[in-house]
Amino acid sequence: MAEDPRDWQIETRAVRGGLARTPYGEISEALFLNQSFAYDSAAAADARFAGEAPGFIYQRFGNPTTQMFEDRLALLEGAEACRATASGMAAVHLSLMGLVRAGDHIVAGRALFGSCRWILSEWMPRFGVETTYVDATDLEAWKTAVRPNTKVFLVESPANPLLEVTAIGAVADIAHAAGAKLVVDNVFATPIFQKPLALGADIVVYSATKHIDGQGRVLGGAILGQAELMTEAYKDIARHCGPALSPFNAWVLLKGLETLELRVRRQTENAGRVADAIAAHSKAKQTIYPGRPDHPQAAVIANQMTGGGNVVAFDLGSREAAWRFLDALQIVDISNNLGDAKSMATHPSTTTHRSMPEEERVAIGLTQGWVRMSVGLEGSGDLIRDVSRALDAA
Ligand SMILES: *Cc1c(COP(=O)(O)O)cnc(C)c1O
Repeated sequence: MAEDPRDWQIETRAVRGGLARTPYGEISEALFLNQSFAYDSAAAADARFAGEAPGFIYQRFGNPTTQMFEDRLALLEGAEACRATASGMAAVHLSLMGLVRAGDHIVAGRALFGSCRWILSEWMPRFGVETTYVDATDLEAWKTAVRPNTKVFLVESPANPLLEVTAIGAVADIAHAAGAKLVVDNVFATPIFQKPLALGADIVVYSATKHIDGQGRVLGGAILGQAELMTEAYKDIARHCGPALSPFNAWVLLKGLETLELRVRRQTENAGRVADAIAAHSKAKQTIYPGRPDHPQAAVIANQMTGGGNVVAFDLGSREAAWRFLDALQIVDISNNLGDAKSMATHPSTTTHRSMPEEERVAIGLTQGWVRMSVGLEGSGDLIRDVSRALDAA
């Protein structure tokens, strides 16, 4: 009997999932840089457009390389279907737009990636869709925010930048009782450490730009879920609005998936060591890392995550101290990206979260002393030496 790839170990799915070889039998996945496809006859074109015969039509609808990436990521996630997008933000935008119409209401965790907040606060209201923000760790707040027209719950867990964790299963139950769908931005956890669909979420979104590429090259994104919902909510909007991922980027990301598990496990080992060194240093007032037992939602993490991920946040007390820390780093880069092989650190209040009003930053606990660090693949001894010296200088 033929092997079912869904039964493979995660490492095997990452390396071989979705592989569709041409008659040449190439080992590394082929890159199909082509826009359209020829049909054997007018009747064959008719059948393909009618959806009665399989095959590709046009790059905006689908492409063999992009499909290999979608199939591989779907296998890693344990999802029936995946749609790749040109960026993580295209994925978040599409995931919401496909589920709402004018007059609908969204409930979202208040600690969200800045561009996600812009979509909810500035963009969706133009089309008559309102959002209520809640403290995502407070289950009562989710319940209280529900209105008769609530159609979507959106949460990022762990959230950027202070790594707040939401009980995905409990929030999914509240969403479903209200007749709403739960969308989870799973970037920080990666498909290796958290499976939102298995916990009860309806849709998972990724910025593939982060750990899936993991080497700072291309933008990409993905939406995953059950086949029926994916088709109903996203098939037409994706075809006609055109957020398609470039096949070249899909190829880079497909190769990224091969080593995703290896990379994020090593990054997580490094992050655990770096977090412990920071927490033990007198300059750090508070250190937040999902892999440490002193994380504020440690019990929830134990229930739904199998690894802490590669991001650490710590409070040095003031903007001046945070900047002194960043300026003293010799190996770690000052950069706002994350998930890369190279370690990087940023001051969220003046970079990623500068457009958030000060009172909202305070509401999520993001005061001026916080630094966010994405731990990479360098030797942990070098990282700890660099970070410890910068902490001394802070
Ligand atoms: C980076 C990021 C995004 C946006 O992804 P892009 O690929 O940069 O468009 C969305 N959500 C989270 C949590 C992110 O970290």
